[in-house]
Amino acid sequence: MRLSPHRRRYAGLLVPWLLVCVAALAACNADATSPEPRGKHAEPEVQTRSLSSNDPRFHATWPHVRDAQRLSKALDRYVKATVDQFAHEYGETDGGTSAPELNIAWRLVADDDEVVGVRLESYLFAGANGETAGRTWWYDRASGRLRANAGLVRSPAALETAVLAAIDDPDIDRSLVSSSLEQGAPDVDFTDDGRLRVRFAQYDVAPGSAGVVAVVLDEAATTALLSPFGERARQAAIDQPPLGDDLPSVPPSPETTAPTDPADPTTPPATDGATGGATDGATGGATGGTDKPRVNCRKVKCVALTFDDGPVTDTNRLLRILRRADAPATFFVLGQQVQTYPETLARVARQGHEIGIHTWDHRQLTTLRPRAIRGELVRAQLLVEQVTGHKPTLFRPPYGASDARVLRIARSLGLAQVLWSVDTLDWKNRAVPPILAKVRGGARPGRIILMHDIHRTSVDAVPKVIKLLRRQGYHLVTVSELLGAPQPGRSYSQR
Ligand SMILES: [Zn+2]
Repeated sequence: MRLSPHRRRYAGLLVPWLLVCVAALAACNADATSPEPRGKHAEPEVQTRSLSSNDPRFHATWPHVRDAQRLSKALDRYVKATVDQFAHEYGETDGGTSAPELNIAWRLVADDDEVVGVRLESYLFAGANGETAGRTWWYDRASGRLRANAGLVRSPAALETAVLAAIDDPDIDRSLVSSSLEQGAPDVDFTDDGRLRVRFAQYDVAPGSAGVVAVVLDEAATTALLSPFGERARQAAIDQPPLGDDLPSVPPSPETTAPTDPADPTTPPATDGATGGATDGATGGATGGTDKPRVNCRKVKCVALTFDDGPVTDTNRLLRILRRADAPATFFVLGQQVQTYPETLARVARQGHEIGIHTWDHRQLTTLRPRAIRGELVRAQLLVEQVTGHKPTLFRPPYGASDARVLRIARSLGLAQVLWSVDTLDWKNRAVPPILAKVRGGARPGRIILMHDIHRTSVDAVPKVIKLLRRQGYHLVTVSELLGAPQPGRSYSQR
């Protein structure tokens, strides 16, 4: 499989979903809330933009850095071209457990007064194997210009010499390394301690089984190579410690992870709101941290609002809406987004909402090997626990794609699978009225409603959704309150 959307030029047609993309970009532009900073992991002054679709399956997020217009435009163009090309090539699929998939995730690798660095990682699955490739953009705030990766070093030839000298893996093809560097080495950044790292896309310089090949230069070689801009970039990168990088890259084995046994009365509650029973008390679900009267979903009509793919900047607006309405919700978050917006996630937890995980970076789990599935779940679980102090016990697989393997691994991690029963299709219909129509038509007691806080129009719809449901006599509860005691390894999607 040699498909590389990263390197192909867009040649797509103007099809209806493209309009969705344009609408999405316009929508993202309008979001202007800014979270409070917190310690060394202060949330950046960037917004997350997104494009997603269930058919064909793609999920792309990337940053908009307000005071770095050239950078933001370059990222817009790159992601749109990549997504357009993917959708043009794969069109509509029949879904299933091995549908083609494109995933683009981002990370701010440097952000200070002088330099911004953004790394995007793309993953393309086209029916047999996945292909991963990264690309890093460097922006010089002083000059207002994008700098090519070559601008980090004094001389491209010296970079090539240093990279070749640092390679000791016989599987790496040195001539391919040279030609990749001559073509511009798209992915150059720094390790946490400031050493220069050059990454080559999967399949580029070694067999696909090697994954993305990273060559890290030592301190002396890095210092000798860097240009003045490269030195500033290195300092900015060192000052931007990535949250969650200390999480184990090799997930603990199933034997060392004790699953929660919901039948065991001695098992302590594993997370807020997950203690089972139709309660709405201090264990979770109560917004604003206040005790509320019990809601017994066996006696009254209950529904659960759920929000996937965050946290993003706009999650803060959603939290204000939920607080004003005194409405609990359940958030299925991506580890990769929590890395960037930890304080927003902490706020979600403080307001008493339930938090489940939606994998690390939105991969279609059914196409992954067991080890990768575990990694996707356990890294997100650990990071949420690190930020909120509570270990999630619920997960929702991206695209709802799951199978017996996924459930087995989920069970070993103490995770119950939560699907949905009302799909608002808010990712497709980026407007309030169609979302309301889906809720109106789909609401029944015990149902789980799917929305996404990465779309501005979805957050816009929430006050009306809450009003509509309450007018029909529904009580809003968290997923764990709705389900009673969700059991690890079991799948839930109420009727
Ligand atoms: Zn999702």
